[in-house]
Amino acid sequence: MDIPNLSPGLPLTVDARRDRVFPTLTRAQIARIALHGRRRAVASGEVLVEVGQRPVPFFVVLSGEMQVLRPAAGTEALIVTHRAGQFSGEATMLTGRRSLARARVSEPGELIELSREQLFGLIQTDPELSEIFMRAFVLRRLELIAGGYGDVVMIGSAHCAGTLRIREFLTRNGHPFHYIDLDRDADAQELLDRFQVSAADVPVLICRGDAVLRNPSNRQIADCLGFNDAIDRTHVRDLVIVGAGPAGLAAAVYGASEGLDVLVLESNLPGGQAGSSSRIENYLGFPTGISGLDLTGRAYAQAQKFGAQVMVAKGATKLTCAHPLYSVHLEDGGRIEARALIIASGAQYRKPAITNVSQFEGAGVYYAASRMESQLCGGEEVVIVGGGNSAGQAAVFLAQTAKHVHLLVRKDGLAETMSRYLVLRIEEHPKITLRTQTELVALEGAQHLDRVRWRDRRASADETHDIRHVFLMTGAVPNTGWLDGCVAVDKNGFIKTGSDLSPDDLSAAAWPLARPPYLLETNRPGVFAVGDVRGGNIKRVASAVGEGSIAVAFVHQVLHQ
Ligand SMILES: Cc1cc2nc3c(=O)[nH]c(=O)nc-3n(C[C@H](O)[C@H](O)[C@H](O)COP(=O)(O)OP(=O)(O)OC[C@H]3O[C@@H](n4cnc5c(N)ncnc54)[C@H](O)[C@@H]3O)c2cc1C
Repeated sequence: MDIPNLSPGLPLTVDARRDRVFPTLTRAQIARIALHGRRRAVASGEVLVEVGQRPVPFFVVLSGEMQVLRPAAGTEALIVTHRAGQFSGEATMLTGRRSLARARVSEPGELIELSREQLFGLIQTDPELSEIFMRAFVLRRLELIAGGYGDVVMIGSAHCAGTLRIREFLTRNGHPFHYIDLDRDADAQELLDRFQVSAADVPVLICRGDAVLRNPSNRQIADCLGFNDAIDRTHVRDLVIVGAGPAGLAAAVYGASEGLDVLVLESNLPGGQAGSSSRIENYLGFPTGISGLDLTGRAYAQAQKFGAQVMVAKGATKLTCAHPLYSVHLEDGGRIEARALIIASGAQYRKPAITNVSQFEGAGVYYAASRMESQLCGGEEVVIVGGGNSAGQAAVFLAQTAKHVHLLVRKDGLAETMSRYLVLRIEEHPKITLRTQTELVALEGAQHLDRVRWRDRRASADETHDIRHVFLMTGAVPNTGWLDGCVAVDKNGFIKTGSDLSPDDLSAAAWPLARPPYLLETNRPGVFAVGDVRGGNIKRVASAVGEGSIAVAFVHQVLHQ
């Protein structure tokens, strides 16, 4: 498989790439690792890690050999053999999730064994080894993904909304899976027919070799794969962050790297809105742009490297506002207590007032334009609704593969709402038509969207077009419903912070301190709001990241008061 070059520069040879995935450590490096773990003699055939095991220990081979295997249908597929100087492990070492593979001694010898906690201790104090391990773990996970070595088989179809949702959920969680496409594999369709799996039950997931889940929710998948099993809910955290978009992930990286005990709660997928962006071109340090998935995927791994825990597909449903200990209620009825809280729950796209819009979500109606969606509408006409930067990016991106892109905006033009560089690209692109003063009024179809109707306010009649793909990018509303009035919000529902808070806001929350709220602090002491959910925030990745990191400095002050 193609192994990405994580350190762009000169192209790597195949051997050099291989060496990054399965490096051989030097004597000096091994000696430093030995200080953190224990030496252990092992016999041939000894199983060191079993599939599904959690937590997974880390091994360095001193002598002998260790094989990493993937059991399948009564046999075992060899993934790799580690020899003297090489080490075990992949991304599960960071996440604390279950092992996807079996590790067995194939030649007797001696190993160094470290627990996951000992490995974290080493990573945090030894930058050289930290870099070697991080790179190897991430690249090994990419190999597992490319080889479909995961513990999930998904049988799905491009015509059903659940397939896109679940593919995105597994991909953004970096979880490998094997995909069987019902539209291409007649045998798979027959198999489902025999088991009386109806269209509404698709996609079907075979999870960890036994559980069969029919069109499961993201939460069911997370539960089945044990994504959150390693997270202890009983102890009081220094900092709970609600939302794993750029703002929440930045706060997690800075908080955990500065020694705070950090838990991030994410109702859906790590990455937030940015994770669904096809190409972010205005984020500092990436002159050729970076996909949202790559940027937020790296941030997610970075947060975990520093020891932040991330609970996925389990959102916050309520905040108990009793200072000084805050209690966040979870979707599954549980609670987490924290001494400080950062609200980074972001915003989501507004839906147009068309009654059947949710019927076509994922089956012709999309809120993001990433590579996955572009594959679904390649060679076809698409409609994009919205005049902001995200709509502009989507238009330029989709025009690469779509037959034609119709960009619908209510205003007279794009100048007020979109960056100049995007406006120019749209104006010059032969496959993009900008339709001003135009709005989408109807969606038609059965299982999948077949037709759209739009209205140009200057024309006498509506137009109907056989277009099967609509991207809705029409401004955002804040995700604050779960706060249920606990913190002050502005007239549009965005959270008020710092000097924006009025004396009335403070007295409504019975502000108990002599000092005024810090920058980014709400009218509850120790509760901060960052990123798109905050009133007055500039809706950009850079501001979300900046605010997430700044808030951590104030969290330290609150914790020391
Ligand atoms: C398609 C697209 C393209 C974009 N392109 C660019 C660009 O090129 N450049 C740029 O600077 N900006 C871009 N943006 C804007 C940028 O992505 C946002 O400003 C940024 O993601 C905001 O980050 P955030 O962390 O504040 O919120 P979000 O990204 O919205 O993340 C919030 C997270 O909180 C979670 N959440 C919500 N409620 C709860 C709850 N109750 N409990 C737990 N979790 C919860 C959500 O699931 C989400 O993951 C783009 C946005 C989109 C949608």
